[in-house]
Amino acid sequence: MIEEQLSQMDREVQECTRCELYLKRTQAVLGGGNPFSELMLIGEGPGEEEDRQGVPFVGKSGQLLDKILAAAGFSKEENVYITNIVKCRPPGNREPNPEERAACLPFLMRQIELIQPGIIVLLGSTALKALINPEGRITKMRGKWITWNGIQVIPTYHPSALLRNPDLKKDVWEDFKSVVQKYREEIDPHHHSNYT
Ligand code: SF4
Repeated sequence: MIEEQLSQMDREVQECTRCELYLKRTQAVLGGGNPFSELMLIGEGPGEEEDRQGVPFVGKSGQLLDKILAAAGFSKEENVYITNIVKCRPPGNREPNPEERAACLPFLMRQIELIQPGIIVLLGSTALKALINPEGRITKMRGKWITWNGIQVIPTYHPSALLRNPDLKKDVWEDFKSVVQKYREEIDPHHHSNYT
C-alpha cells in the first residue's frame, strides 16, 4: 500500500512541471530508504549525482551522512527514509527559491502523511525554512526539538555544510546523539548506537 502510493507519487514527480526546476533535471528524485521507518530525514534537493542516479544522498554528502547514520545505528536499508524539500535538482546546486519550495511542498506533505514518522531530522537551513519557519536560522535552531503536527522534529546542519566546514561536525554529532536518545524514548528503547 505505502509502496504503491510512493510509486504513484514517483510517476507524478517524474512528469511534474509545477516549477521551473523540471527544465534542467535528468530525473526527479522522490526519496529513498525504508518507507516503514519511524525516522525521516529531509534535505534540500538532489545534487548532480542524485540527479544522475535518481537516488537521494548518494554523492559526497550522502556518503558522509551514511557514516553519521551508521554511527548512530541507523541505515537507509533498515530504519531511515530520506527525501528532500524539492525533488528536482536546482541548477549548479543553488538553493531552491521560495516559489520552488512552495510548489514542491505538497509532495513532501504527502510523503510525511504516508510514512508517518515519529521523528524528523531536518538537514540544513532550506528544510528548516520550508517546513517549520521561513525566518528560522539553522545556527540558532539546530539541536533543539520542536513538536510539529505531533512529530518530534530536530534541525541540524546539512552534510554538505560539514564538507565545507569540518568544525561543524561536533555539533552534528551532538544533534545525532540527541536523535538516538529520542529514538530510544519514543520508538525503540533497545536501539543500539556507537554514540552512547
Ligand atoms: S521540484 Fe517539485 S514542484 Fe518543481 S518540477 Fe520538480 S517535482 Fe515539480
